[in-house]
Amino acid sequence: MSDLINSSLRELSAALAAKKVSAVELATLFLDRVEKFNPALNAFITLDHEKTLAQARAADERLKVPKGTQSAGAGDPAISPLCGIPLAHKDIFCTKGWRTTCGSKILANFVSPYDANVVEKLAAAGMVTLGKLNMDEFAMGSSNETSYFGPVKNPWDVSCVPGGSSGGSAAAIAARLTPAATGTDTGGSIRQPAALCGLTGLKPTYGVVSRYGMIAFASSLDQGGPMAKSAEDCALLLSAMAGFDARDSTSLERPPEDYSRDLDQPLTGLRIGLPQEFFGAGMDADVRAAVETALAEYRKLGATTVEVRLPNSGLSVPAYYVIAPAEASSNLSRFDGVRYGHRAPEYADLAEMYSRTRAQGFGAEVKRRILIGAYVLSHGYYDAYYLQAQKIRRLIAADFVAAFKECDVIMGPTSPSVAFAFGAKSADPVQMYLSDIYTISTNLAGLPGMSLPCGFGNNDMPVGLQIIGNWFGEAKMLNVAHQYQKATDWHTRMPGGVK
Ligand code: GLN
Repeated sequence: MSDLINSSLRELSAALAAKKVSAVELATLFLDRVEKFNPALNAFITLDHEKTLAQARAADERLKVPKGTQSAGAGDPAISPLCGIPLAHKDIFCTKGWRTTCGSKILANFVSPYDANVVEKLAAAGMVTLGKLNMDEFAMGSSNETSYFGPVKNPWDVSCVPGGSSGGSAAAIAARLTPAATGTDTGGSIRQPAALCGLTGLKPTYGVVSRYGMIAFASSLDQGGPMAKSAEDCALLLSAMAGFDARDSTSLERPPEDYSRDLDQPLTGLRIGLPQEFFGAGMDADVRAAVETALAEYRKLGATTVEVRLPNSGLSVPAYYVIAPAEASSNLSRFDGVRYGHRAPEYADLAEMYSRTRAQGFGAEVKRRILIGAYVLSHGYYDAYYLQAQKIRRLIAADFVAAFKECDVIMGPTSPSVAFAFGAKSADPVQMYLSDIYTISTNLAGLPGMSLPCGFGNNDMPVGLQIIGNWFGEAKMLNVAHQYQKATDWHTRMPGGVK
């Protein structure tokens, strides 16, 4: 049974259909691993075995072949191939009856009364929730060091960060504590931790996955997406997660898509755009070497590479650190101690209740963003900062429109370095912010992006290759990633300490 920890979702689905394993046994296998390895990693912050096993039993019921029908079971088109497969949710997704903290003290005691759309959809497919995953507080961070629940350790080297903000999701999959997880990406939080932990993660086009019940950080940038070992797994998960939802006013009304449909297309004639701005001095030599080797592999697979320009991409980090805090300062005003979450135990009047609650409930990075956000939106500074940043955002999107005239996908590094040591960047916010220098422009433009493992760099830590697709180009990106993963085995590697 232990070989199942490395299985793809399709293999797990086939094992469930063939009754080689039950959903209860699968959930138990992973919960046992959580018990064994999580104390050293701190990836899971909430577990509820009873709830998990109840979901698993319900999945087993669904997988039973109904009397008199031969073709039913997991082969039945009415039953999702994901039925009975365990996964875990980033603790930014509201999950009914489960504690949902967003990595913050201010929500440390919050039990959600409803499910996020993504949680609802994956549960409807029959997936079994193993628990809730640690994250940077309110998804603000690139290292998981801002979580109220303590940092997550990188399973490849526990003295290093797993990346952030979906670091709990990444560490849990890398350590094979779960076959898959949800993540969210506002400026890189799916792709960067996927890169630092040797996984595959996908941020969809803005509006493809509903944000309903996903605790808001910067609403015009936030997107939920899948994190897993391979592109094939991400395609299956995205097909179940995506779709129009009237409860999210920015959800796009488009016909449902099967994101696995193009996985097997050959790459002959594929044009890969290489932005010179992504291959400059900012990238470490070990990352560059692994990315160059991956590009050579793509040429072998029939692709050609063309130089493209993204002249405004250097402005993406400064523009993001105006727009994201502005939206965060507004979104986080709802955490006031009145209806839910932490409330300061002592206060003289209502104003003091608010200020003490927020002073106690938020960590330093969250406070920094609220202050910056309130500042750039204030009278007199709005035009100078917020409006300027929005104009830059438009220029960045226009750069991509021009680049995609020359190519089908864009490639480059996901992160300028491999996973760094705890404390290496936490004293200098700007250094930390630069971790997302290659990922943020896609969020500003609303484009889809992926990271997939493409080798190992310094200290044998994983390196991620980033693929940026055109708007709604998820199926194409997944095809491009899958063909690479058929030719290489980086995505199958597993850290030594958790075998
Ligand atoms: N690291 C970036 C930030 O701190 C991006 C985070 C994210 O994508 N949620 O804002």
